Amino acid sequence: MARTTYRRCKYCEEWHDVANWPANHLDPAPQRSHLSAPRIDRDGLDDLWHPVDGKIYDSKSAFRKTTRASGGEEVGNEVQRDTRSMDTVTKDEVHRAAAMVSQGYKPGVHGTASTEGWS
Ligand SMILES: [Zn+2]
Repeated sequence: MARTTYRRCKYCEEWHDVANWPANHLDPAPQRSHLSAPRIDRDGLDDLWHPVDGKIYDSKSAFRKTTRASGGEEVGNEVQRDTRSMDTVTKDEVHRAAAMVSQGYKPGVHGTASTEGWS
């Protein structure tokens, strides 16, 4: 015969059977990322040729050190500060433009297509 174990609940201060713990008296599940594993930014990289000294590097930090020492700048991983917004296009505008093209409309080289007057 299995022994029943009771523990005191920190939420209601009552004693509950450990094997039949009320689901609404459990700690909430911890917030987890949708990713399966944490991102690991390792220093190693596959052999990469540096255009400044022509050497092959297998370390990001050594590669960056050479870049900085030569007065170069690594680009592409900077924080995006451009806050300009893009023009948004609705599905309706896309459908109208597609309809215009299928009806023979050809936009000018320098002009922009206007869907005004078309339906
Ligand atoms: Zn409880």
